[in-house]
Amino acid sequence: MVLDSFSVRVALGVVTVTLLVLFCASYRRTRSPYAGWWSVALLEFMLGNTAFLLNGTVHQQWANPAGNVLVVAGAFSVWAGARTLRDLRAAPWQLAVGPGITAIASFLENPAVNVWSGGFVYLAMMTAGISLAARDLWFIKANHSQVHKALSLAAWLLAVYYLGRWVVYATQGPASATFKTYFGPAPSGLVSMVLLVTVSFSMTALSTDQLIKGLRERATRDHLTGLLNRGAFLELANSELKRLRSNESGAAVVLADLDNFKAVNDEYGHGAGDAALKAFADACSASVRSTDLIGRYGGEEFILFLPGATQERAQSIAAEISRHMAATKVPEGLTFPTISYGVTASSPALASLNFMIEVADAALYSAKALGRNRIVGADRPGAATIADEARS
Ligand code: GH3
Ligand code: MG
Ligand code: MG
Repeated sequence: MVLDSFSVRVALGVVTVTLLVLFCASYRRTRSPYAGWWSVALLEFMLGNTAFLLNGTVHQQWANPAGNVLVVAGAFSVWAGARTLRDLRAAPWQLAVGPGITAIASFLENPAVNVWSGGFVYLAMMTAGISLAARDLWFIKANHSQVHKALSLAAWLLAVYYLGRWVVYATQGPASATFKTYFGPAPSGLVSMVLLVTVSFSMTALSTDQLIKGLRERATRDHLTGLLNRGAFLELANSELKRLRSNESGAAVVLADLDNFKAVNDEYGHGAGDAALKAFADACSASVRSTDLIGRYGGEEFILFLPGATQERAQSIAAEISRHMAATKVPEGLTFPTISYGVTASSPALASLNFMIEVADAALYSAKALGRNRIVGADRPGAATIADEARS
């Protein structure tokens, strides 16, 4: 018995519409970019397949090329979705090239009478789009599930199937028995249906992963500067300190406070104040190593945790931050504030993070009292004296 392609296409259309409704609902709930791209892809597959149903009618001359273009666009949308799971983007031109070339090829080979007009390019572009998606799915760094690996394998299988379609199309032609039996519209429609359902099934896990990642990012980052917020900083620094203790290495804490910052807001407006805070955050990021932690401790107060740093090293990093800040280009008429620092280094065997922060805070207090725009270092025994002096 030979499968008839019309029935398979109708069934594929019904499956696609059902999945589309489900995924639009999922997208509305999670706003996960992956679910969004999947909805777009399903819509393109559905419209493309509907266009193919017009083959054999007077509309074939535009519907057949349109079908090719939409289905290829669908494959590239799947790729774009897979990239969002790696925090990467697909540029609009990258998404447009495949469908664009398919459109040209499809219109060139007399689509009014030839249902396989542009078939060679169409199959090549499908193979390319699906392979790209499979590749990006494989390289996702997932925290919560490994479902992307299974998904990538499924996509690779589909890519190999399309490669087979392409090779047999090129060598034996679409009228050959091999092509019709294994690679024609009916068997490929069945394969697509199975894969769409499989892939869609694993979607929920992946978009939930994406949602959790986004929420965690928002919960741990300061919105204005993108630095760690106070809670996340303390949590990370504490666990880093525990790790350092077991390695018997030291660490330094730097507290930084922008000088007379209130005056910046008062003179130039809140927007200028925000710009100064962002500039300071950038200066910090530019001056430390990737293993150092930077947090926004409060309004215009920042904190750094520098694993392995000595007192001298921490003080030179503070000086480096001020140099970066002074070199930052400022909007016309505005001057960025200077910065005061309190710095302390400690052997982790002796000090808790809270204590180090207290010592750095006392040193910062003293830097302010001594006239601002300076770095004051305090070691453990000196901290109490420094704080007393500063207060007196
Ligand atoms: P000092 O040199 O003693 O630190 O003086 P200061 O003016 O910097 O300190 P003060 O604590 O008096 O003022 C801090 C100001 O920081 C007041 C507050 O409005 C401002 N501020 C806190 N958070 C933000 C923010 O997110 N954006 C802006 N623009 N200003 C902020
Ligand atoms: Mg201040
Ligand atoms: Mg302050």
